[in-house]
Amino acid sequence: MDARTIDRGTRLAETGTSYDAIVVGAGFAGMYMLHRLRGIGFTAKVFEAGGGVGGTWYWNRYPGARCDVESMQYSFSFSEELDQEWSWSEKYSPQPEILAYADHIADRFDLRRDIVFDTRVTRATFDEKAKCWHIETDRGDKVSAKFCIMAVGCLSAPNRPRFEGIDDFKGPVYHTGEWPHEGVDFSGLRVGVIGTGSSAIQSIPVIAKQAAQLTVFQRTATWSVPAWNEALTAEYLKAAKAEYPALRAKARARPTGFYFPFNITPALDASPGERERLYEEAWARGGLPFLGAFGDLLFEKAANDTIADFARRKIRSIVKDPAVADLLCPDNVFGCKRLCVDTGYFETYNLPHVRLVDVSKKPIERFTVNGIVVDGIEYPVDAIVSATGFAAMTGAFDKIAITGRNGLTLAEKWRAGPRSYLGLASAGFPNLFTITGPGSPSVLASMIQAIEQHVDWLVDCLGHLRDIGASTIEARLEDEDAWVEHVNEVSKVSLRSTCSSWYVGTNIPGRPRVFMPYIGGFPIYVQKCNEVMSNGFDGFVLEGAAPTNIAPKVRYTERWRVPLDIEVISPAAVAAKRVPVV
Ligand code: FAD
Ligand code: NAP
Repeated sequence: MDARTIDRGTRLAETGTSYDAIVVGAGFAGMYMLHRLRGIGFTAKVFEAGGGVGGTWYWNRYPGARCDVESMQYSFSFSEELDQEWSWSEKYSPQPEILAYADHIADRFDLRRDIVFDTRVTRATFDEKAKCWHIETDRGDKVSAKFCIMAVGCLSAPNRPRFEGIDDFKGPVYHTGEWPHEGVDFSGLRVGVIGTGSSAIQSIPVIAKQAAQLTVFQRTATWSVPAWNEALTAEYLKAAKAEYPALRAKARARPTGFYFPFNITPALDASPGERERLYEEAWARGGLPFLGAFGDLLFEKAANDTIADFARRKIRSIVKDPAVADLLCPDNVFGCKRLCVDTGYFETYNLPHVRLVDVSKKPIERFTVNGIVVDGIEYPVDAIVSATGFAAMTGAFDKIAITGRNGLTLAEKWRAGPRSYLGLASAGFPNLFTITGPGSPSVLASMIQAIEQHVDWLVDCLGHLRDIGASTIEARLEDEDAWVEHVNEVSKVSLRSTCSSWYVGTNIPGRPRVFMPYIGGFPIYVQKCNEVMSNGFDGFVLEGAAPTNIAPKVRYTERWRVPLDIEVISPAAVAAKRVPVV
């Protein structure tokens, strides 16, 4: 247990208390929600399954873990003082530093006194008479609250495939999303890594430096761009901080919620020579902004083919063994799954003790006492790293028995795919909110910005409900249906909907195929949320309030209002399919 972790082992269960709001989860979403709720005078309590704050950064301690949105932007923007006082050490800071930042937030804003750690919410039930939520935890707590806010995370429910013989394996099996706090020493060991998504891409080069032998089991080859990570100098930080408010404003105007230079012109309008030049430049900048080389890369297959061809040539130029290079070259749309950002990933396969096993046609057969069997061949390993991802976007909800009006459970309602109005609320579940829920930009934006925008909107909404004395707010079914339909329609415009990925839920066998995040772009989504608020919460039903003309006080939402014609995110650019969405 580290110094920041509070031992709640002997805590007595809390029963009978009533709050204005219960928040589930103490990642960046839950922390900011608590801070803002206090700011409007609400009583609130946060339950967190982990032993500390930070969510993703508390759980994902695997070697090499770091952000893939630059740290100067992958951070809260709500406090200029905070922006000025915190200094990131690297362009893409490592997990311990991001966790330290989360701890700093908790201390600076005195959040811990209202967070209960090591406690998982198991049940949330709406009481139609009392118009409140009854919340139960695995530690025996039974409390109630007018509002229940799910800040449970989009990537917080690890996916652990039940490989045959998994319990026979004599060594440890680690999941990247639940990494031991004390770290793992792979020195001298034969290690098997399953998966080649972002977590694997980051951890493989680091594990390879320690392990005696590394075997990577790859089902789908992955697109990855070098991070070109670097230390941030004092001079850089000074200059960047002087421009911080302007950077934050520019970021809010971007489809991704973070700023990077991009070129709106279509790839297919450029000559082959010009394309090559711009791809080289973008590759040299590295990271997710590589997709900003042209405006139509995620909309036109022929345009995408040009960037895919360039990236395949890069892989072949790095990986010395042509057969291994072939295996590492993806054949799907470039950037269809979440693009990976790496440091020395492809180079790792040039090391003599690293081998790649293709499990695309012949899947992993089983684990044995000594290793992993594929196509009848046993690969002996001493330790296994399961970099197999998450039951994304809805997985954390599946683990809570959430019951709304008329006994309807969220699990039943979402069986054929999540249904939510704006990713914020679901009809039949009054006063229950989801931060970065399915149907909002969430994972397609820089998530801290997506979180802040949701929390700011929600806090203005909750303040208004109190001002007018409303007892409940609930998404109206017709508006929810229309929004779900819109989210679906918009997703078809993007090539992102063409492959199997966690965006569509198909990384988990048996899950319905639904494109879950809203891909229409962050500022356009924000504009919709703002319109909903200024039109008196259009699409929501408010009950219990006397008729009133009181307009919502826009305390926090204001800063998300950006002119839609800034740079390239105008509706015309969207209509012309020239908005890269990372
Ligand atoms: P989380 O951080 O997931 O926090 C949710 C919390 O809720 C968890 O602590 C969990 O324990 C708790 N919880 C869940 N269910 C319950 C329950 N029933 N009871 C009690 N507690 C519960 N996004 C980016 O934009 N840029 C990046 O660079 C980036 N890098 C990432 C790297 C990794 C390794 C991963 C996995 C994700 C990354 N993400 C990134 C996405 C990341 O999840 C978000 O940026 C952000 O941290 C999410 O914050 P959150 O508070 O919404 O959710
Ligand atoms: P992921 O992208 O879903 O990757 C999981 C990997 O495991 C995939 O390669 C998948 O193969 C493989 N896999 C799953 N089940 C398998 C099975 N039964 N047999 C063989 N292989 C199997 O998960 P992730 O890497 O943890 O990343 C999830 C998301 O978290 C990312 O997309 C990103 O948004 C975020 N993240 C970000 C960073 C960062 O750079 N900051 C780091 C980590 C995570 P298939 O592709 O064939 O399904």
